[in-house]
Amino acid sequence: MPGLKIQQRIKYQEDLDPDFPDQVAAMPGAADLNRCIQCGTCSATCPISIYMDMTPRQVVAMTRAGFKKEVLQSNTIWLCASCYSCTAECPKKIKITDIMYALKRLAIQEGVYPKRLPTPVLAREFFRKVRSTGRSNEGQIATAMILKTNPFKLLKQIPLGLKLLLRGRMSLFTEKMSGDRHQLQELLDSMDKPTDTAKQQATA
Ligand code: SF4
Ligand code: SF4
Repeated sequence: MPGLKIQQRIKYQEDLDPDFPDQVAAMPGAADLNRCIQCGTCSATCPISIYMDMTPRQVVAMTRAGFKKEVLQSNTIWLCASCYSCTAECPKKIKITDIMYALKRLAIQEGVYPKRLPTPVLAREFFRKVRSTGRSNEGQIATAMILKTNPFKLLKQIPLGLKLLLRGRMSLFTEKMSGDRHQLQELLDSMDKPTDTAKQQATA
């Protein structure tokens, strides 16, 4: 029928990324990914799972199967509140919270996070600010986040921003860090690369 668009729901082998499981497993804390027995305890214990588009158990299964695009674009990794409940209860001692962090880092590195979701934008802006100046600045970071997610909200936030400025709770200026900023940048950049230990654990 002309104009009818059929959305492909079935995934084929060629849609998968076979390197994705190893890529994730090589990141800090994610090496035990392949020990998952799909018991679902993590999903049952997660207080946020009802709001997620994939449960934690599904995230682990989809990652192991190579569904890179689907996993990195899911809202699950950004809704995760890092409460560690899943990690504490997992019978295979898999660090699911760390896997969520690994997936967040990959999503940001590859620029495939949901663009209007405040959490990844906030994380990215925070990282940028700290990397470039060595300091955080709540006002600048919040402004950048609102402009990139919902610019109309900025107007509503102006009275609150002014109050915070007048009471000295927020500043327009960023303090200078003492110490070597380039060393900090090298340290932060190195965190984006898988460690040798994590690579060895992933291939073991
Ligand atoms: S609780 Fe652990 S073993 Fe069970 S599904 Fe979740 S990650 Fe897999
Ligand atoms: S750490 Fe994240 S995924 Fe695990 S139970 Fe808490 S909110 Fe759910």
